[in-house]
Amino acid sequence: MTATDNPMADLPEGIARLRAMILESEKITVFTGAGISTESGIPDFRGPDGIWKTMTPIDFSAFIASEEVRRESWQRKFSGDEKLTNAEPNAGHQAITSLVRAKKVHWVITQNVDGLHQRSGTPEDQVIELHGNAGYAKCLDCEQRYELADIKRAFLAQNSIPYCDACGGIVKSATISFGQAMPVKPMQLAEKASLNCDLFMAIGSSLSVYPAADFPRLAKHKGARLVIINAEPTDLDPVCDLVLQQQIGTTLSAAID
Ligand code: NAD
Ligand code: ZN
Repeated sequence: MTATDNPMADLPEGIARLRAMILESEKITVFTGAGISTESGIPDFRGPDGIWKTMTPIDFSAFIASEEVRRESWQRKFSGDEKLTNAEPNAGHQAITSLVRAKKVHWVITQNVDGLHQRSGTPEDQVIELHGNAGYAKCLDCEQRYELADIKRAFLAQNSIPYCDACGGIVKSATISFGQAMPVKPMQLAEKASLNCDLFMAIGSSLSVYPAADFPRLAKHKGARLVIINAEPTDLDPVCDLVLQQQIGTTLSAAID
């Protein structure tokens, strides 16, 4: 029996298959979603305890159009940001970093905005952030960077929301909102990383946010083997070589042990 005979594998058979697939691969691309960071205490969006169960997202066009909406957006950010800023990388991030150091994983494409791959030791230039980073803010016009601590201080003290010192543009958290254009360079890099791998591991993503979720399809189409580790089923499970419906931290740690 080969590693790909039974896509819906149970543990520990599934872990043995994952381990074999990693050993057989030379160029792995990892793709992560919010699910890898729930074990660090950051809720996902669409899982059973997801953020969208209690709050609707703010669309980019609404943020641009209305100062009131921008204020609401900063209010949300500063009332819920402890979970993000206090979070530490977990066993899943660390296992991926081990595979990066072993020169198995060349690229980590992430939908996450928490910076935990970098904090766990994966070099910044190997992390492709598709949805930006929640750890700082940027002017939407000239891309000047602003630190959140400064914005938060002014927001709490004077209830003021930020505009760019350099050009007067609107300053926004450096994340990509619904309705906002995807960043060009990360999208190009992610395409390259998907086309140039022999194993693509999609970890902790509902694979329902496009265009990000196109990358596993692209990798599979180009001939890479596709593994999905996610607690819930995804639309791509039927075309996968291995599906592990398991907790990410324990699964990945056991597979590289
Ligand atoms: P998602 O919320 O759509 O899906 C997460 C998936 O992970 C769910 O299917 C859930 O069942 C699974 N999951 C959760 N914890 C798990 C665990 N411990 N083990 C195994 N599976 C687990 O997430 P998504 O696909 O990344 O899309 C949501 C969007 O939200 C992304 O674009 C991302 O930018 C953003 N987001 C980011 C963060 C973060 O940076 N940590 C957090 C929430 C949302
Ligand atoms: Zn500016």
